[in-house]
Amino acid sequence: MPKLLEEPTTNAARAAATRAAANQLFNGQNLARYEEELGRGLSAVSKQVAGVDAPFTGITPAELRIEVAAVDLDQPLPTGAAALAEVERLYLRDAVYFHDVRYVAHLNCPVVIPALVGEALLTAVNSSMDTWDQSIGATLMERHLVDWTAGRLGLGPRADGVFTSGGSQSNLQALLVARNRVFDQMRREALPNELRLPDVLARLRIFTSQVSHFSIRTAASTLGLGFDAVVAVQTDAAKRMDVDALAVAIAECVEAGLVPMAVVATAGTTDFGSIDPLSEISGICSASGAWMHVDAAYGGGLLTSSRNRSRLNGIEHADSVTVDYHKTFFQPVSSSALIVRDGAMLGHVTHHADYLNPRTASMVVPNQVDKSIQTTRRFDALKLWLTLRTMGADGIGALLDAVIDLAQRTYLVLDRDPDFEVVVAPALSTLVFRYRPAAVAADGREDLIDKLNQHVRSALFGSGEAVVAGTTVAGRHYLKFTLLNAETTLADLEHVLGLIRHHGTRFLVAELEQAHV
Ligand SMILES: *Cc1c(COP(=O)(O)O)cnc(C)c1O
Repeated sequence: MPKLLEEPTTNAARAAATRAAANQLFNGQNLARYEEELGRGLSAVSKQVAGVDAPFTGITPAELRIEVAAVDLDQPLPTGAAALAEVERLYLRDAVYFHDVRYVAHLNCPVVIPALVGEALLTAVNSSMDTWDQSIGATLMERHLVDWTAGRLGLGPRADGVFTSGGSQSNLQALLVARNRVFDQMRREALPNELRLPDVLARLRIFTSQVSHFSIRTAASTLGLGFDAVVAVQTDAAKRMDVDALAVAIAECVEAGLVPMAVVATAGTTDFGSIDPLSEISGICSASGAWMHVDAAYGGGLLTSSRNRSRLNGIEHADSVTVDYHKTFFQPVSSSALIVRDGAMLGHVTHHADYLNPRTASMVVPNQVDKSIQTTRRFDALKLWLTLRTMGADGIGALLDAVIDLAQRTYLVLDRDPDFEVVVAPALSTLVFRYRPAAVAADGREDLIDKLNQHVRSALFGSGEAVVAGTTVAGRHYLKFTLLNAETTLADLEHVLGLIRHHGTRFLVAELEQAHV
């Protein structure tokens, strides 16, 4: 049992304790405290960021765990300043800083300042997007941004959508809609009320490429279809879905008496940035009746680029699209949306609760909960709103175009270098490669090269000098650069490649010494 704070015994003591706690409530009486405490928090971040000269300190979980575990959460500190100082030590000091030019690991973007202003506003007001009576203007602004995104996608006049917590949730909701839609069709074709959803789940299939995001499989499992319901379609040399293979897989599915529920195309695969042939896939979807979902969690930012928008051509044929603003729109987590071609399809997730959105009320007032699988939900849209109103879509596009160019230039460097092997030319802003020194490669020691690349990645992380990602391709270990920082230069990346050589060489020397003792 945790030790409870001493219970005040008199009414006066109880009232004083309540008054002290109420001083922490955000309201008109406490605005001086609000500004002072928030200002202190902002200063702590600024002070930290001013001192950052590497993405990471290299601290280990074992070291930090001791310090975190030592905090007694039942014993509050005397002041907000003291609590903040503790957080500086436990969190800010050793956090991984995505804005650092040598953070090139995952799809974490540096964030733009207008979005940070939005974040501060939306958490203070704390609107909730489920119903009009908890959100007012926020609902209309979110809807305007959904319409804006749908317009850029070219989905047509009936499009609609909703903000979500991230790409995984957007993909889940898309497949939920697709599942319920196909079930609706099947039930209408069967005798009324004879078919129940559980009866058909085992027959539904989802088609997606071998290199699509794992959240598709997780969604299939969550929706009761099972992981096996996802058919992995092979990819071409550029890591794009092979449409002939897709057509064959769907034909086999139908022949076996199964139902092609959805095809999930990816516009920007997480590892390679590859964009599936969207127009061809849409043709196959129309012919087979499958729902076409496009997972543009990564590639969605291309909607803002005048130079590279055409890479998304064909996306206008989608039935639904996932866009992660917290990736290529430079927004803080979380900010994502699911957009659908036919807004009525979102009715497949609607539940009418008497206390929240009774059927009659939803006809007259806009309640976003009708379209969402969340109930209480943040006004994340405000961040994107302020971003667009401050820097415009072109500003976002310029930042994205810069990293697409950088990936291309870095590719040329890697491709020329006999000690590095790159899997494919970048389609967006990632590079999957491995350090494969010619001397070791000549011996055909691929296992040693695997260990070498795994070692390099963790050695870099441990040193904190740079953070790179790792992935596997055909069972082999590779390194990955994900470039989202327009301030990163080719020279920065050449420096990281130098670090990779340095740690790699040390590893090989140690291995050879081992082999000789
Ligand atoms: C990141 C990503 C996701 C998952 O999005 P979250 O926002 O992390 O939930 C889905 N699909 C692709 C292609 C992604 O890159």
